[in-house]
Amino acid sequence: MAKNRFSALQELTKRTPLNVEHTEKLTSVFGDNVFTRNKMRQYLSVEAFKKLEDVMSDNGSFDNNLADQVASAMKAWAVEKGATHYTHWFQPLNGATAEKHDSFISLTKDGSVIDSFDGKMLIQQEPDASSFPSGGIRNTFEARGYTAWDPGSPAFISNGTLCIPTVFVAYTGEALDYKTPMLKALAMVDKAAVDVCQYFDKDVKKVISTLGWEQEYFLVDDALFNARPDLRLCGRTLMGHQSAKDQQLEDHYFGAIPRRVRAFMIDLEYECYKLGIPVKTRHNEVAPNQFEVAPVFEEANLAVDHNQLLMSTMKRVARNHHFNMLLHEKPFKGINGSGKHNNWSLMTDTGVNLLSPGKNPKSNMQFLVFLVAATKAVMEHETLLKAGIVSLGNETRLGGDEAPPVIMSVFLGQQLAGIFDEIEKKVSTKKMTPDEKTELKLNVGRIPEIILDNTDRNRTSPFAFTGNRFELRAVGSSANCGEPMTILNAAVAEQLVLFKKEVDALIEKGVKKDEAIFQILRKFIIESKKIRFEGNGYGDEWKKEAFKRGLSTVSDCVEALKGYVTPKARKLFVDNGIFSERELEARFEIKNEMYFKKMEIESRILGDLALNHIIPTAISYQNTLIKNVKGLKEIMPDVYANVADVQMQAIKEISEHVKAIKTLTDEMTDVREKSNDIKDMIKRAEAYSKDVRPYLSSIREHIDTLELMVDDEMWPLPKYRELLFSR
Ligand code: ADP
Ligand code: MG
Repeated sequence: MAKNRFSALQELTKRTPLNVEHTEKLTSVFGDNVFTRNKMRQYLSVEAFKKLEDVMSDNGSFDNNLADQVASAMKAWAVEKGATHYTHWFQPLNGATAEKHDSFISLTKDGSVIDSFDGKMLIQQEPDASSFPSGGIRNTFEARGYTAWDPGSPAFISNGTLCIPTVFVAYTGEALDYKTPMLKALAMVDKAAVDVCQYFDKDVKKVISTLGWEQEYFLVDDALFNARPDLRLCGRTLMGHQSAKDQQLEDHYFGAIPRRVRAFMIDLEYECYKLGIPVKTRHNEVAPNQFEVAPVFEEANLAVDHNQLLMSTMKRVARNHHFNMLLHEKPFKGINGSGKHNNWSLMTDTGVNLLSPGKNPKSNMQFLVFLVAATKAVMEHETLLKAGIVSLGNETRLGGDEAPPVIMSVFLGQQLAGIFDEIEKKVSTKKMTPDEKTELKLNVGRIPEIILDNTDRNRTSPFAFTGNRFELRAVGSSANCGEPMTILNAAVAEQLVLFKKEVDALIEKGVKKDEAIFQILRKFIIESKKIRFEGNGYGDEWKKEAFKRGLSTVSDCVEALKGYVTPKARKLFVDNGIFSERELEARFEIKNEMYFKKMEIESRILGDLALNHIIPTAISYQNTLIKNVKGLKEIMPDVYANVADVQMQAIKEISEHVKAIKTLTDEMTDVREKSNDIKDMIKRAEAYSKDVRPYLSSIREHIDTLELMVDDEMWPLPKYRELLFSR
């Protein structure tokens, strides 16, 4: 094994950046592999295209005839582009994307082969659902699941296969994926937001949710990656002493992009453009070998699909460049981990960003309503939002002075917070005087200047207003954004519905519309005051303060997951048809199951490495020390004890660490076995979190100390300094 690290390091010296030359103009490749509207128009009859457009904007229904026509158009286009297979592409709850490829060929009666793809194959498939997480929904005797076409996200070609974005549901109708509930939440926020917009603009007929994600990731050279079983199997290092130099000098962030990495990025961007993913920004991140890619924002459903597609494309392209891409939230101890900021807003079909201050008091009132609704949504559902972003990986990142704290709060910026305070103070249930009203409106009207002058940013807030959108910063780098998007949009929709209900009630009582809106704004501002925090989210004072305010300060993943099934969360989901009770329970169970299954893998790999790699290496080195001491004794018997005291001390310490590693590993195995006896998934996750997790760090501590003691020539696993600075 020792050879692996050194042959890997040797391989590294031979690396040169790949030659990447893409001479085509960007605009000519963009969307090349996507069945875009333009292509639909080209391949469909005028009438069929019109009908399909209606379906895509939720105004029409799909009949068999239309399905056949669309399928045949898609196939014609795909085959022309060299595709040989098709697949329904979906997002099961294991976090990956799934595809099962079928060839277009079909046999005719006379035995000849033709290309075939009809409406039925486009609209629905029945993959065996038994190998995907279902949280007990799917019985093995009824293993079928359905995938059904999502016309809101265009088909695309990837690796010679026509991919059709679909939802994935159980035979009995329950959702088994991320997309199904998100589409429901997006429809819910559409309706709620359109209703509220009517106070301000009767022309608004549709509101979409927008999402711009920022994907962080690490690159590790292939050869080194392959010499680390922990990276290969868990996506993170389970051991490794900190590199003497890592991110202290802050010299990586926004620094010059290394040549090999640049070549990878250029290739990645090219692949993304062909797939219609509008990536725009690339830069180095804070930690060495950490980078970020971000697109222009899109409609949330499409943006989520594009992020899933990006993650798999990145892995593939990275491999061509002899890199492995790490999406884990905390691949290396002691340096920054990776997240995925979700920039979120709402936009009307009249082209107005509802979280962007307008040009006059009226549009600014509208802006304030949406700002307040979002703030209150976080207030009401802080524990649910947290449940939606925690995972075994993210647990190690959140709250670590580099990532948002595990306490949910909303940052508005001083000026907007000031406006909230003013509304709270000046508006009352008593009728406002005309002067008061004018002044308030004037101030509301001044919002855009205020914000332009005041681009203050608070990097420590998990949910920060950044001028024309909110940035949900707590999402993990490997997460499917569909989950936080489902929760956030549903929670905001719920507040918008409530807002309208209360304003309408006042109007009914004879209060004027403007005044009614101000009054309910004030009510919402007061009710959501607790969640607003403008200060340093990393500080200890905030933890104390948040606790005093009664906000959830839970940082443990398994505890935080319980936010999924509180009465409030159930009410939001079940009453609005986002999840049924059964679906919610299933999801909750899957989350817990994923947690302990992943930890079980980590714990077993750590055990293997400890016993088979680390202890034998430590003993080998100890033997050379023993030999040395014996030799010294032989040549200078009188003074050897004095001369060899460093070696003697090391021999003793190595024995202590070896013993501790062995004892702790044995204990960990016992504890794991005991935990595995627990039948209830939630209780088992609790046991893993409480009993198994501590061993992962205590064993590691001894190993990391040994790494510093043992001869570098003998250490079997690539070290942090090698993993982080080879590129
Ligand atoms: P920063 O690192 O300063 O936060 P980036 O440029 O890395 O900014 O990313 C900002 C992201 O926010 C981009 O994906 C951008 O498209 C997105 N964004 C901008 N406006 C909106 C909006 N109205 N809705 C959703 N996302 C938005
Ligand atoms: Mg950024």
